[in-house]
Amino acid sequence: MTVVRWAPSPTGRIHLGNARPALLNWFYARRNGGRYVLRMDDTDHARSTREFADGIEVDLAWLGVTPDLLVRQSERTALYDAAKERLIAAGRLYPCYETEDELDRRRKRARALNKPPIYDRAALKLTDEDRARLEAEGRKPHWRFKLDGKPVQFDDLIKGPQTVNTASMSDPVLVREDGSYLYTLPSVVDDIDLGITHVIRGEDHVSNTGTQIEIFEALGGQIPTFAHHNLLTDSEGQGFSKRLGSQSIADFRAEGYEPMAIAIMASITGTSLPIETYETLDEIANRLDFGMISHGAARFDPAELDTLNARLLHAMPYEAVRARLSSLGLEGEAIWLLLRDNLGKFDDIKELSKLVTGPVDPVVADEDRDFLALAKALLPPEPWDQTTWSHWTDALKTATGRKGKALFLPLRLALTGRHDGPELKSLLPLVGRTACLDRLP
Ligand code: GLU
Repeated sequence: MTVVRWAPSPTGRIHLGNARPALLNWFYARRNGGRYVLRMDDTDHARSTREFADGIEVDLAWLGVTPDLLVRQSERTALYDAAKERLIAAGRLYPCYETEDELDRRRKRARALNKPPIYDRAALKLTDEDRARLEAEGRKPHWRFKLDGKPVQFDDLIKGPQTVNTASMSDPVLVREDGSYLYTLPSVVDDIDLGITHVIRGEDHVSNTGTQIEIFEALGGQIPTFAHHNLLTDSEGQGFSKRLGSQSIADFRAEGYEPMAIAIMASITGTSLPIETYETLDEIANRLDFGMISHGAARFDPAELDTLNARLLHAMPYEAVRARLSSLGLEGEAIWLLLRDNLGKFDDIKELSKLVTGPVDPVVADEDRDFLALAKALLPPEPWDQTTWSHWTDALKTATGRKGKALFLPLRLALTGRHDGPELKSLLPLVGRTACLDRLP
């Protein structure tokens, strides 16, 4: 059974860069009939809030992803404590007492000597008495994981065979001085506990994977398959960031974008699958093979989002928008089919539908007044259908000799107040004769 997880930190509203792994995990689960776990990585008490976590749930649902299970790391501390004790007993987790300042000085000294600024494992040499003395001074330990130093190899589902050389890394701190956990250990403990089979996440985590595989081994857990995807950047090539206030999924929603447009841009950008209209996330899930994810950057293009949003609306069936139209007081398929091709965002229909329901400000040029008066007189009797427009304009053409733009534009300007817009042959029967008479001068 495939089990994946998406593990956001609830330290802000999610942006497009966060939506990418949220969706790629979903696609993988759907393709393989697997389960999807939403894991809130909220061990950073200072920056995580319940409000942000709730917001993530809302945004994920809006995108069309429905997790099978939600867990919060803040509620799972007992599991991490147990793992911590096991690592200590196995000699893989050791207490360190250096302050940030001391570590900083050591790193500077190493750099000055042209050595890599790696933690020197001085704490491993402390005796019981040293530790007792340091603690008597009021120092509290933070805890480091003792890396093997052997190259860690894994077969990445996206990037292919990878090697992480943990010998060139500092032993990572897993537990802070105040006893709280950094991301690394809880992530592995949860992956084991929840039976995660595939870890699909951004490629900024490749070097963490080296450490995490060692922790999986130290805890005797099943090592999942890893898939590290390229990161999405903005149009200037800058990474999205919660802290720097990148446009959030909630912002896009408030701006009236379709969730499918956002989902497509977040997931398909930077792959060899074309950015085009898809009806459902499952359709993407079935077509997006991980082999199609590029190894280079994935650059988001806001202009492409606008084009895609419009194309999705132009292709959208009435049933998909019926409720939304109804809430605007717009009923019936005909008005949707008439107007959808002119929409950039769904809400544009609020203004556009006035072409049918009124009020309209007719635009009438002085030189067209006689022509429009004649048009009014020749307006066919009801019932009206799609042929009414051609009967009417044929009659006007015969009577005045006008054709092309000179014939059609004054009618369009009077009936709609605009130079462009929906097809008049379809608009006319929806507006009806009485309202047309009102709009003609
Ligand atoms: N909370 C981590 C992040 O948002 C999760 C990384 C992972 O998927 O393991 O980067």
